Amino acid sequence: MSSGKLNTTLVSAGRKSAYCKGSVNSVIQRASSIVFDSVEQKKVAMKHRGERELFYGRRGTLTHFAFQDAMTELEGGAGCVLYPCGAAAIANSILSFVKTGDHVLMTGGAYEPTQAFCNTILADMGVSTTYYDPMDGAEVGELVKPETSVIFLESPSSITMEVPDIPAIVKSVRKVNPDVVIMVDNTWAAGILFKALEHDIDISIQAGTKYIVGHSDAMIGTAVANERTWERLRERSYLMGQMVDADTAYMASRGLRTLGVRLKQHQENSIAIAEWLSTREEVARVNHPALPESVGHCNYQRDFTGSCGLFSFVLKEKLTDEQIANYLDNFTHFSMAYSWGGYESLVLANQPEDLNTIRPVGPVDFNGTLVRLHIGLEDVEDLITDLEAGFDRMK
Ligand SMILES: *Cc1c(COP(=O)(O)O)cnc(C)c1O
Repeated sequence: MSSGKLNTTLVSAGRKSAYCKGSVNSVIQRASSIVFDSVEQKKVAMKHRGERELFYGRRGTLTHFAFQDAMTELEGGAGCVLYPCGAAAIANSILSFVKTGDHVLMTGGAYEPTQAFCNTILADMGVSTTYYDPMDGAEVGELVKPETSVIFLESPSSITMEVPDIPAIVKSVRKVNPDVVIMVDNTWAAGILFKALEHDIDISIQAGTKYIVGHSDAMIGTAVANERTWERLRERSYLMGQMVDADTAYMASRGLRTLGVRLKQHQENSIAIAEWLSTREEVARVNHPALPESVGHCNYQRDFTGSCGLFSFVLKEKLTDEQIANYLDNFTHFSMAYSWGGYESLVLANQPEDLNTIRPVGPVDFNGTLVRLHIGLEDVEDLITDLEAGFDRMK
C-alpha cells in the first residue's frame, strides 16, 4: 500500500479524499456521538467498529483515521492505536499483553518512567520484571522464562545513548519462545530511522510528542502493531479508554508532513556539534550513535538509516551543584526542559550517581557530569558559541 519512498509517504500517507473532503489536510472532526441515519447503518458501524468506521468518538473520527493510516503506512504495520501521550502508549501496550503471574523482560536502558511503571503498577499486579543489560545481545534470550510474555526494547538507551544489537536480542528471544510479544520504544528514530517491524518486532511505540508533533506544543502516543498483535492491542487499549482528541491527532498528522526535512536538519546539526564536542578537552566522551566512539556504533551503522538531534556527552570532571547551576542557567539558545523533538535546542545535566539509580543493570561507568543535549534547527555556529561560553563558565 506504500505510496512511494519515505518523503513521499510522509507527505501523502493518510490523505484520502474521505478524510480530507476537498482540502489538502484531513478535516478536524470533533465528536463524541456519531449520528446514524438508520438502524441498518448503525448495524454496519457496530460490525466494523475499530476498522476505520465511524461508531463512537472513543473509536476515532476521520481525523484519527487519517493519522492512524499514515502511521500504519510509515511503520509498515497492520494498524495504529493512539494514546494521550507516549507514557500511556507504553503502559497500555504492556498492559494489553500481561496478566498476573507473567514476567516482563525490560531493557535496563529504558526511559525512567517506563521502569517506574514496571516497578510499581506491574509489580502490584503480580507481574515481575527482569532488567537486562541492553548491550548483552544474544544473551538476553537466556533470561526468558516460561511465564515471560513481553520483551521491551529501547534504542538508543535513554540518556546514555548506547545502541543495542536488536537483531541478536530478538533472535535469541524468539528461539526460546517465538510467541513472546516484542515491543520497542522507537521514539528516538521517530518511526523512520529504525524500521522496527522489519526486525521481527511486534509493536513500535512512539512518544509522538517528540518529533512527530515537532513543535513542543502537543502530546500524543502511537503504537503501530503487526498483524499478529494488532487486534488485541486495539481492543484492550479501547477497553482501557485510550484515545486522543481530534485536534491533537490533527497536529500530529500535520507534523508528519515536515518530519523528513526536520529530522535531516536535526541530524546534520547534532553531528556537527557532537564532532565539535569530541575535540574539547573538557569532554571525556560523546554519546552520539553516529560517532564511532559511541557504544553500539556498529549496531547503529547496520540497523539505523540516520540519527536525530538527541545525544549526550560526559565531562571529565564532576561539576559542583553551583557549577551546574551556573552552566545551565546562562545559555542564550539552549533552554532547560524535559522532553525533546521540537525545533528548539535543549540542555539538561545529570550527575553519575543520579544515573546509577535509573540504570538497574550495567552500572554507569563514568565519574563526570553527563550533559544531555537536544539540538534544534538553529544555526550550528550560534549553538557552538553558546556551548563554548558554557565551558568557560565551568572554569
Ligand atoms: C518523552 C518520552 C516518552 C514519554 O512520552 P510522553 O508523551 O511525554 O508521555 C517515552 N519514551 C521516550 C524515549 C521519551 O523520550
